[in-house]
Amino acid sequence: MTDFTPQPSCATPEPVNTLRVEDAREKILQQISAISCWRKVALRDALGQVLHEDVISPLSVPPHANSAMDGYAVRGEDLKHQLISLKRVGSAFAGKPFDKTVHTGECVRIMTGAMMPEGCDTVIMQEQAEVNNDLITLHGEHHSGQNVRLAGEDIQTGAVVLTAGRRITSADLGLLASLGFAELKVRRRIRVAFFSTGDELRSLGETLNPGDIYDSNRYTLHAMLTRLDAEIIDMGVVTDNPDTLREALLQAAKEADVVITSGGVSVGEADYVKQLLDELGEVHFWKIAMKPGRPLAYGKIADAHFFGLPGNPVSVMVTFYQFVQPALHKLAGAIYHAPMVLQAIAAENIRKRPGRFEFQRGLLRSNSANQLEVTMTGEQGSGILHSMSHANCFILLDEDCDGVAAGQSVTVQPFAGLI
Ligand code: AMP
Ligand code: MG
Repeated sequence: MTDFTPQPSCATPEPVNTLRVEDAREKILQQISAISCWRKVALRDALGQVLHEDVISPLSVPPHANSAMDGYAVRGEDLKHQLISLKRVGSAFAGKPFDKTVHTGECVRIMTGAMMPEGCDTVIMQEQAEVNNDLITLHGEHHSGQNVRLAGEDIQTGAVVLTAGRRITSADLGLLASLGFAELKVRRRIRVAFFSTGDELRSLGETLNPGDIYDSNRYTLHAMLTRLDAEIIDMGVVTDNPDTLREALLQAAKEADVVITSGGVSVGEADYVKQLLDELGEVHFWKIAMKPGRPLAYGKIADAHFFGLPGNPVSVMVTFYQFVQPALHKLAGAIYHAPMVLQAIAAENIRKRPGRFEFQRGLLRSNSANQLEVTMTGEQGSGILHSMSHANCFILLDEDCDGVAAGQSVTVQPFAGLI
């Protein structure tokens, strides 16, 4: 006889105690407030660091009106006729201004960036000038004020140039240099301690015995933390033993603002780790309706924030990107912009079962019609790290989605430099 009782499957709705991705992120962010310590660093050392306070411009940029062209500086009022002849009375170079006043009927040879001479408000490009000794004849169309960069056109004295919480970029360094800042107040770096758990894990250089694997999570975590400009404490591999684990967690929490572990939070292992963490602090074990990366632990051990990431190498990277990254930015005092999402055309069918939010790995590129197109990076298992290493984006597939047909539009989230 056929049994019509519904059987549990991957398509079965998630149990009610399961958290959605946004809710888990929100719960974590609510627990985090920014560190307040700051220090002064030399301008070059500020790259990637978090600005402690607003930067107010002490001067105008450019500080004086200057020429945007090589040509002739003239008085705009002299440009009444189509054909004008003016007397050249001198030259102005960048850094070597013409220091007299230019009167009506006169002009000055001027180079790009040179300060506008007193009396002049307009520059005629050299291609529109005919030179006959000191007599300069201008032709073509002109209008008063052209080809001049005004004082303060870029930045005015007293303007807020960069706001507190900004992560300093290469362009910012140039901007700050143009304002004369040799030093900057930045937040201290956040300190992050991490270790891997698992009896099967070997560090590089060790011999692999049957059943052993090399620890890869410490390398992906180290890399992503480096990109986030954290101070890193790599505590190695810790075996699945309550005493060594307790000791490692306590030491990590003493030394760091954040403790990250990978492995040991999946069903089966969670109970014993849970017991240990209950004893050391307040840590919650969540099932998140996502794939990969369902189990996640978050809480506090003493004053340190604790993230217990799943062990599978892809799950580590996905949960770091989605949960740890925003938390670390907030803790560092940085203004956090959620990673950009875009629409792209699926270049192939994407399989998915309804139920969990999936972060599949894709390769995003422009096709020959300059449209964004995404392909999958092969097998999507949570242990298949080359699906990450060949990817440059996540393909975001929401809970209800039951697959995407080739040619349909799909949401993607570029890695944007973190991974
Ligand atoms: P766990 O969450 O500890 O049950 O680990 C899940 C899977 O990830 C297992 O196959 C582990 O061997 C693997 N794994 C855990 N930690 C690491 C690591 N640091 N590097 C590579 N694989 C790991
Ligand atoms: Mg394990």
